[in-house]
This record gives sequence, structure tokens and C-alpha cells, in this order.
Amino acid sequence: MTSPITREWVGFNTFPPETQTKLLELLGRLKEENVDKLTILVMGKCGVGKSSTVNSIIGERAVVINPFQAEGLRPVMVSRSRAEFTLNVIDTPGIIEGGCINNQALELIKHSFLLNKTIDILLYVDRLDTYRVDELDKMVVRAITDSFGKEIWNRALIVLTHAQLSPPDGLPYDEFVSKRSEALLKAVHQGARLKKGDKLASSIPSILVENSGRCNKNESGEKILPNGTAWIPNLVQAITEVVVSGSKSIFVDQKLIDGLNPNEKGKIFIPLIFALQFFFVIKPIERAIGKDIARETKPSWAVRDANRRF
Ligand code: GDP
Ligand code: MG
Repeated sequence: MTSPITREWVGFNTFPPETQTKLLELLGRLKEENVDKLTILVMGKCGVGKSSTVNSIIGERAVVINPFQAEGLRPVMVSRSRAEFTLNVIDTPGIIEGGCINNQALELIKHSFLLNKTIDILLYVDRLDTYRVDELDKMVVRAITDSFGKEIWNRALIVLTHAQLSPPDGLPYDEFVSKRSEALLKAVHQGARLKKGDKLASSIPSILVENSGRCNKNESGEKILPNGTAWIPNLVQAITEVVVSGSKSIFVDQKLIDGLNPNEKGKIFIPLIFALQFFFVIKPIERAIGKDIARETKPSWAVRDANRRF
């Protein structure tokens, strides 16, 4: 893949001044930790709002949004720089098709796109206004884990779009949000096969997002959630906290991809299995046959025939 051109982050100027100030503060905090570049990978099912979230973060219509069309197979990386800081956001197509993992899309993401790149943050996107978590969610989590390793969840945020909603059955907003977050966290736990008490999954933050143009705003013009939080700075703050938390970014090299591919995993054991078979199966059989031959008494006709002269 050719590297995308890093453009000036002009979308930054479209944010209200309050948001700009908060974002510059956060970028400053990252720079204090010697981080001047972030690569954010955005994954999730189709139609959950991945591309819209990318555009909201960048502040531009950088990637295509089309509610009625399949997303295509290719991921897209948007690269922007501001105040000597480079932000790369990788939008990916949903990796589920017809109830199955779309392996072609996943292979493209892993091999041709992310190979030799570092993932600093995974945004695992789903909708807040969906009430069920099913096998499909676990399959997506499993595919991500099989591709990049369990450690990717150290660097993950669960992003819940469509956050401007009135919960059903008169449930208080915060209660609804925590129920939905817990259900998704459980799916991540199960899909990634994390062990009980594994601190990886219990520490994944859930962040609310509202991409709609009809999102409520505060008096400063910042897009806010029903609980009053300005969500763009809130999302960037959560990203910053994960980055400075001390866990490692994920470097996608050939070894990581090969080592985690379930089809390749057992390969190194093949010579060992052959050796074990040789010493513990073939050799004992040979010895047993040898003993049998030695012990064998010849039948009378064989003795008779051996003495007969022709
Ligand atoms: P993707 O397939 O995951 O990339 O999803 P898109 O970003 O293309 O969004 C699918 C549809 O959902 C589009 O019509 C978006 O306008 C809409 N959408 C995405 N995020 C939100 C959101 O937070 N709120 C609302 N109301 N609509 C959203
Ligand atoms: Mg999309």
C-alpha cells in the first residue's frame, strides 16, 4: 500500500474554540509522553457508524458514508497533522457478511494494509441503541483477537454511536448506557476468550458518540450527549488516557500475523509429532514384528517342503 499523504488537519478549525482548546491540551499531554503520532484503527460490524465516527474525529467528510451500500473491501487511512502532531485514522469495512466473517476483507486489512504498521488504539464501534448482543458480535471480537492478539484489547475503546436516544421502558439514560456497555464488554470477554478476572477486558472504557447533525449542542456550540458531556473532547481524552496508561501499542509484523493464524499455529509442532510417531509408534511396531518372526515355529508343511528335493 502506498502511504497516504499527510495533510494539514484543517477540519480541526471547524471545531468550536472550547473543543480546540481541550484537544490541544490533550495533544500537549501526549507530546509530554513523547507521542507525536497516533494511529487509530476503527473496526466493527457494517452500518454501526464507523465511517461517521472517523469523519467526526477529523472534522471533515474524509471518508464515504452510505447507509444503503456495502462498504467495499478496502480500508482507508486518513492522515492529518496539526501542531507537529500526526493523526492517522484507519476506517475499515465491516468484516461480517451474510452472518459470517468476511475473510477476504479481514485479510486485506491485516496483510496488505496494516502490515508493518503500529496500532496505537482500537475503536471497537457498535450502536448504543441496539438491545441485543449475539454470536455475530463475538465473532467480530474473535476475528480481531485472532488477527492482532489479545493485547489489542489493552489498547481498545468500545465506542457506542447513536448516543442521543431516549431509553426504552422508561429506563434512566445512565442505567441504559451501563447495561449496554456491560453486555458488550461481556461479548468482548467471551469473543476474545479472556480468562475470568483478566484485567484486560474489565478495563476497556465505553465511550458515547453522536454523529448525527441533529446532535444537541451546548452554549459553546460543542456537540453534547444527553448527559451534557461534550463528546469529541471526551473521546480524545479517553484515547489519551489509554495511550499514556503504559500498555504497549500493537506492531503488526509478519510474525504476529503468522503466529496468530489458526491455520499456521500448529506448524512448528509437525517435526516433533513425526519424531514422536517414529520413536513411540513405528519403532515399537517394528520391534514387535521382529520378535514375532523370531518366535515363529514353522508349520509342518514348510519343514517338509524345505527337506524335499525337487
Ligand atoms: P459504517 O458502515 O459502520 O461505516 O457506518 P456509517 O458511518 O456509514 O453509518 C451508517 C448510517 O448510520 C449512516 O446513515 C449514518 O448517517 C448513520 N449514523 C452513523 N452514526 C450515527 C450516529 O451516531 N447517530 C445517528 N443518528 N446516525 C448515525
Ligand atoms: Mg463505513
